[in-house]
Amino acid sequence: MEKREQLYEGKAKKVFLTDDPDLLIVSYKDDATAFDGQKKGTIVGKGAINNRMTNHIFRLLEKEGVPTHLVEELNDRETLVKKVEIVPLEVIIRNFSAGSFAKKLGMEEGIKLACPTLEFSYKNDDLHDPFINSYYALALNLATQEEIDTITKYAFTVNKVLREYFAGLGIELIDFKIEFGRYHGQIILADEVSPDTCRLWDKETHEKLDKDRFRRDLGNVEDAYQEVFRRLGIQ
Ligand code: ADP
Ligand code: UDP
Repeated sequence: MEKREQLYEGKAKKVFLTDDPDLLIVSYKDDATAFDGQKKGTIVGKGAINNRMTNHIFRLLEKEGVPTHLVEELNDRETLVKKVEIVPLEVIIRNFSAGSFAKKLGMEEGIKLACPTLEFSYKNDDLHDPFINSYYALALNLATQEEIDTITKYAFTVNKVLREYFAGLGIELIDFKIEFGRYHGQIILADEVSPDTCRLWDKETHEKLDKDRFRRDLGNVEDAYQEVFRRLGIQ
């Protein structure tokens, strides 16, 4: 597959066209940002970890009936994926209180929720990804009702599969963000699943093994990413 010109450079990945109009190459960077890009840094080795972890998880999800954009891992940092039209919704699932949810509701972090929750943010940097509901998504033509239903169904399946999978690695899946896209009329899972986009706590010690270490200057950021990768047992 021939790599062609860069289509987009985001905060964590670069996206390249290929000679096949249906396929892209995503290239994961070590760059880290937080708080709407105000905090910037580097997490050495993150690109390779997030690339390989995402592909590992996407293979698992495919087996469990969730279609994904994954085509082929090309090397440590680069993966060939299906080119989708991203649905401009950040889909967030929570199992425990943390982050903006804990703050908004005046809760401590780490309280187990009575059931998993799902929320949407409108993916729009200028507006700082505002919280919206499915009625807003419909009213703004961001997705159809059928697409929202499919996205919701897949998102809860992703949660169930990943919660069990991470539990087996001694990790509690606190919350995560995923993105979906349209590929020839079908909704498929796109983007990434990594310590950048999930809150992952050690089940025993409750040590944070995710990007909160960077956001909150907790130290040992690289070690946390390495630890999650080590537990995945991919070599
Ligand atoms: P951001 O845009 O938030 O800075 P990234 O640095 O991760 O994020 O950039 C990757 C971009 O590529 C994101 O906007 C994401 O929605 C988009 N993307 C992810 N997977 C695909 C895909 N399969 N097809 C098209 N775009 C994708
Ligand atoms: N998240 C993400 N990208 C975003 C916003 C959130 O990957 O732009 C993830 C975040 O890592 C966490 C979950 O979504 O796992 C919920 O994040 P929250 O709403 O608590 O926001 P935050 O506290 O990160 O601002």
